[in-house]
Amino acid sequence: MKQYDEIIVGAGSAGAVVAARLSQAPERQVLLLEAGPDYPSVEELPGDLRDPWISLVAHDWGFAATATPGRQFPYPRGKVTGGSSAVNNAAATRGLPPDFARWVELGNTEWSFEQVLPWYRKLEHDADRDGDFHGKGGPIWIERPHRVQPLSRAFIDAAVAIGCAEVDDLNAPTAIGAGAVPHNVRDGIRQSTALAYLLAARSRPNLTVRSRCLVNRILIERNKAVGVEADAGAGGEKFFGRRITLCAGAIGSPAILMRSGIGAHAELERLGIGVAVDLPGVGANLIDHPVIMVVARAKTGVEHDPDVFWEVTLRGNAGGSARPHEMMFPLLSAYGEKILRDYFAAPGYPVIALCPALQQPRSRGTLTLTSADPRLAPKIDLNMFSHPDDLRLVAEGMHIARSLLLRPELAGYVDRIAAPDAPTFSSRERLADYIRANCYTGYHPVGTCRMGPECERGAVVDQHGRVRGISQLRAADASIMPNIVSAPTNLTCIMIGERIADWLCEEQD
Ligand SMILES: Cc1cc2nc3c(=O)[nH]c(=O)nc-3n(C[C@H](O)[C@H](O)[C@H](O)COP(=O)(O)OP(=O)(O)OC[C@H]3O[C@@H](n4cnc5c(N)ncnc54)[C@H](O)[C@@H]3O)c2cc1C
Repeated sequence: MKQYDEIIVGAGSAGAVVAARLSQAPERQVLLLEAGPDYPSVEELPGDLRDPWISLVAHDWGFAATATPGRQFPYPRGKVTGGSSAVNNAAATRGLPPDFARWVELGNTEWSFEQVLPWYRKLEHDADRDGDFHGKGGPIWIERPHRVQPLSRAFIDAAVAIGCAEVDDLNAPTAIGAGAVPHNVRDGIRQSTALAYLLAARSRPNLTVRSRCLVNRILIERNKAVGVEADAGAGGEKFFGRRITLCAGAIGSPAILMRSGIGAHAELERLGIGVAVDLPGVGANLIDHPVIMVVARAKTGVEHDPDVFWEVTLRGNAGGSARPHEMMFPLLSAYGEKILRDYFAAPGYPVIALCPALQQPRSRGTLTLTSADPRLAPKIDLNMFSHPDDLRLVAEGMHIARSLLLRPELAGYVDRIAAPDAPTFSSRERLADYIRANCYTGYHPVGTCRMGPECERGAVVDQHGRVRGISQLRAADASIMPNIVSAPTNLTCIMIGERIADWLCEEQD
């Protein structure tokens, strides 16, 4: 029976990075386990994994999330090497200094913006920017449009007209305002971590990638992780390793911990799982960005590339909030048939949508298991708007979005607001009902194995990703964020992978 030095569970945004970095040392035997399929070359990559605008069709776990009581919606997660980085919309944006100041306030002193910046720089090759805040030569190719579409230009002008700044670089630490979104797309192909990190690493003889391998649980002996039990198609199989790192994402990692007996005592007993460590924070603290669309019917006959879906965004505040980064307003344009069909159910006319997205929600959800069987989906309860500030801020964001769409700068593009209708906008109660019935998220779940100091009962891992109570076991992915960042989450997950991989390389345990 082969003994590995490192077993990494999940080949997503963080896991592919951890495996690639650890396998740089040829003497280290690394095993990367992934539930989904693997496409080992660019040539073999199917269309949905190439095109950054197709993200919800295949290579998905097929989860559903409860948004508010009685309302569910599909909750996509990538199931393939590259994970959700292989199916996402490839917006490449970083968290901001105040986000990491909050992480430090919560007891994670190694995660200030100054400390994470070198890792954000290391992961990227920013094709357009350099200087103190950007990296050159890193694995993730990042670029911005060199000339935005006239509609996007008009949107930036509208934002400037209401007092916002025009932002040249949305990844600069002080970037508050409107500007072009950086994307990790090169030659039209989404640069997932499977391409950016694994492609170069996979020929190493010390790296084994096992795809279509569903990990059930961690094997634990006397409070020490010694391996994992997985189903690779031929029933249960065991893999043994000196250290195990969970990178199965904000849904997968807490689920594996719970199936291994690491979680809230009462919850594990309910499922008939023997308790290894009573850690009530496992599956708690689920956070995601609420997003809603204000949809306009667009004028036809304008100059616009039908393949451009999301080019510009506005970062600002709402509801009198003191946080200048409280909201994002991505502008979506759907002129092409494919995008209209995939995102707007083909309404028969082109669409412009401005989408207020709350960046620092106060509501917290939970992830629980429905069964100890790894093939059954967990219960994802987002508990949206359980904190009243969230509903108030999203409603305010919708009013801002509507007034922006109706600005004279956009008059050449916007025919009329299609949804919500005017009576809904004029009644606070109706707008609140509309939000509860129509709000989605950015598909950015984080926080379900949050890091924090030992004195904090809800903390699942320490700030190096070490799971409390079990040695040789770590988590490194979206699940360990103590609070969500004010941006889409992919680059932050990659940064977490880089940072924890570096600690793993240094530590000799
Ligand atoms: C549709 C969509 C659009 C998005 N758009 C953007 C965007 O434009 N920009 C942005 O920054 N972020 C975006 N995100 C979010 C971003 O992609 C995620 O935050 C990030 O990829 C999460 O990284 P992770 O490493 O935590 O998890 P993942 O990348 O999801 O990786 C987890 C991996 O573990 C595997 N796994 C899980 N359970 C098991 C198991 N039991 N056994 C074996 N393997 C397992 C999964 O198959 C997966 O490969 C989007 C996400 C989605 C789904």
